[in-house]
Amino acid sequence: MTPLESLALARGTVDRVTKKRTDVPWLDAAWRNPGSRVLVVSAGQALVRTDDERVDLVFVPPRDAPEGTRFLLGQDADGTVYFGVSADLPTPPSPPEARVASLREVGALLSDRDAGLLTHAVALANWHDTHTHCPVDGTPTVPDPGGHSTRCPADGTEHFPRTDPAVIMLVTDPDDRCLLARNAAWPGRRVSILAGFVDPGESAEQAVIREVAEETGIKVTNVRYVGSQPWPMPRSLMMGFRADAPAGQAIAVDHEELAEAYWFSRDELLAAIKSRAIVLPPPVSIARHIIESWYGGPLPSTWTEAGRS
Ligand SMILES: [Zn+2]
Repeated sequence: MTPLESLALARGTVDRVTKKRTDVPWLDAAWRNPGSRVLVVSAGQALVRTDDERVDLVFVPPRDAPEGTRFLLGQDADGTVYFGVSADLPTPPSPPEARVASLREVGALLSDRDAGLLTHAVALANWHDTHTHCPVDGTPTVPDPGGHSTRCPADGTEHFPRTDPAVIMLVTDPDDRCLLARNAAWPGRRVSILAGFVDPGESAEQAVIREVAEETGIKVTNVRYVGSQPWPMPRSLMMGFRADAPAGQAIAVDHEELAEAYWFSRDELLAAIKSRAIVLPPPVSIARHIIESWYGGPLPSTWTEAGRS
């Protein structure tokens, strides 16, 4: 199977210019430049503007940005510098045609540039919003000028953004049927492939084997990586895998996490979707791409935010 392409949140065209994060004169000049653009994010959301099928982020010049934690996102090929600010969004939205949207909602609809900027900004803002104190002595930390680290004024320790690694895996049996499950916490007819967090001191491949066994009783082999995308909701990196389930194993669902799990052939999957027995994850998710990669093409049906198909 070929590596996954065009994952919604694994896009981006803006250079992160990481060396500029500590260049205070450069950062100050960029913030004074009225051509710089600021993306305000709040709780995983930002303002967007919709024009027919097209969805664009709404940026403001630095002088119009609200007070809040500021961070450098990067610089475009044309020299434009992008910042993010974690602060409340204006109510009502400004300009009036703008609306508030979450990364989950618009991540697959934005351009490559905007998808990359929003994903980056939401990830950093989520970290700043929840990591405000030194883990050593509890002193409030101070963001560094570029906003990509914080420092404790009491003991001088430096702190960096957190990302939690998670694995998500499509398991197939010897008949090339795929294992889909419904999480006990999900409403309605939502199903997806299995997923879980990597434990401390564990490899991603070990996590795949452990999670599949814990949730379904299936022992998998031949674990292979297929691609990844950030999922900053609030701070995951989803690493996608395929794995094989040798013959002769029965599914034994762990009812704490899963409500049910079944093997689906391609024909059975399409029939279940068409009869509305199940609903698949949205195109913004890596799960959707891994399922369609196994299936061999696009599939109908998508979860909506409200859980309806
Ligand atoms: Zn400290």
